[in-house]
Amino acid sequence: MPDPHRCAVVTGSTSGIGLAVAQALARQGVDVMLNGFGAPDAVAALCAEIGGAHGVRCLHSPADMTRPAEIVAMMAEAEARLGAVDILVNNAGIQRVSPIEDFPVADWDAILAINLSAAFHTIRAAVPGMRRRGWGRIVNTASAHSLVASPFKAAYVAAKHGLVGLTKTVALELATAGVTANCVSPGYVWTPLVERQIPDTMAARGLTREQVVNDVVLAAQPTKQFVTVEQVAGAVLYLCSDAAAQVTGSNLVMDGGWTAA
Ligand code: NAD
Repeated sequence: MPDPHRCAVVTGSTSGIGLAVAQALARQGVDVMLNGFGAPDAVAALCAEIGGAHGVRCLHSPADMTRPAEIVAMMAEAEARLGAVDILVNNAGIQRVSPIEDFPVADWDAILAINLSAAFHTIRAAVPGMRRRGWGRIVNTASAHSLVASPFKAAYVAAKHGLVGLTKTVALELATAGVTANCVSPGYVWTPLVERQIPDTMAARGLTREQVVNDVVLAAQPTKQFVTVEQVAGAVLYLCSDAAAQVTGSNLVMDGGWTAA
């Protein structure tokens, strides 16, 4: 488990996996800055709930991960208001399912920006402080799609493969600095991101909703079960712990056996 009194930024944490990661860190006494979209009232209530339940500071930055200047400002705000960014979880991500020849160019650009380039910008901003303090944990949410492809997910698969390459490079550069960089790679986790791609997959493959869930989504996972957000959060906690001090440049796969096949 990470030490209490550490400070973390978790991108894309108003929903799904990122929210579960932020909650798990807060439960360990880690101050957290949430990031992601949501109605201001709902996000404020979420921060109050997390902060109150675990006795930690919980802030929110609405920075748009497609905008480098907003990302840099978010990281500076986290350093200033929390005092440090000891733990950085790059988790914000979007998906688009479309045949390559119809793949909307704007969606390619957005997926590369949010799922890959945003991590470059946050890491770049976080590393000087981590080096100075001699301790840091960078965890990037990749995917089983960082190892294998699926049709109709060109941008997502490219971005997640790229994220693993970025992570390995950062791990080597920081290997003697007390800073680790790793990926967690879930298979399918039932979150709004998966829910939203069901209609497009139905259209792209000419299938019913039930067929998509059973024959496309869970077909990939030998366990025939979704990964849970709590299981992903548990993996992130491990990577943030002292027990994982020698784990760096790795890609912790938790995909119900998908990529073992
Ligand atoms: P989700 O849709 O539930 O949450 C995505 C979060 O990212 C939300 O908080 C949203 O507001 C935020 N976000 C989206 N666009 C943003 C932007 N431009 N700027 C800032 N924040 C933005 O999705 P999820 O399933 O929890 O996915 C989280 C991560 O996990 C993603 O990187 C995704 O690729 C990865 N992942 C998900 C699954 C899965 O099956 N759900 C599997 C493997 C990997």
